[in-house]
Amino acid sequence: MKIILFGAPGSGKGTQAHRIREELILAHISTGDILRAAVQAGTPLGQEAKQYMEAGKLVPDKVIVGIIEERTKKDDCRGGYLLDGFPRTLPQAEALQEMLDRRSERIDHVISLVVPDAELKRRLLGRAAIEGRADDNEVAIAKRLDVFHSQTKPLVDYYRERGLLTEIDGTGDIEQITARLLRALGV
Ligand code: AMP
Repeated sequence: MKIILFGAPGSGKGTQAHRIREELILAHISTGDILRAAVQAGTPLGQEAKQYMEAGKLVPDKVIVGIIEERTKKDDCRGGYLLDGFPRTLPQAEALQEMLDRRSERIDHVISLVVPDAELKRRLLGRAAIEGRADDNEVAIAKRLDVFHSQTKPLVDYYRERGLLTEIDGTGDIEQITARLLRALGV
């Protein structure tokens, strides 16, 4: 099974990905985690990505698509994978489609976690206080929400038109959200 977990920053994608990954035994691919690890390790990828991430901007599509091409070839992806934080732009969605076509594969489900903006801001500021992520300051948070609405949200229509989209309520109890997600996946 190949799943896209879709949602704004702060919608709980990461938390839910960890929970359903255990349930379904899928590889969890978080482009944000991969980039943060690269920044931490100071690799050329990390050096390139750092400035974009700290400003709350998107890392260029070409870089991200390259990461996904390579990561999805690894052995742990044979049983399926869960994409968390990718695709985030229309060109990324198109590049993903092209890659899957080339491999005669397809996405099975796109689950969108729907959370109101005010709640997203509250969660992101709370996380900033706990985790101290470099992009969880007020300016970067506003920019990330802005980028989500302008560049990422159009993907909801893209996947709806393809009959792949299920929207679920991303507010409330973490366990209830996981239950909604698993129901949407038919498990
Ligand atoms: P996340 O942890 O998914 O919120 O990602 C943190 C940051 O990494 C984002 O604000 C972007 O700067 C970058 N990033 C993660 N995934 C992508 C992507 N698919 N396309 C572009 N930039 C990304």
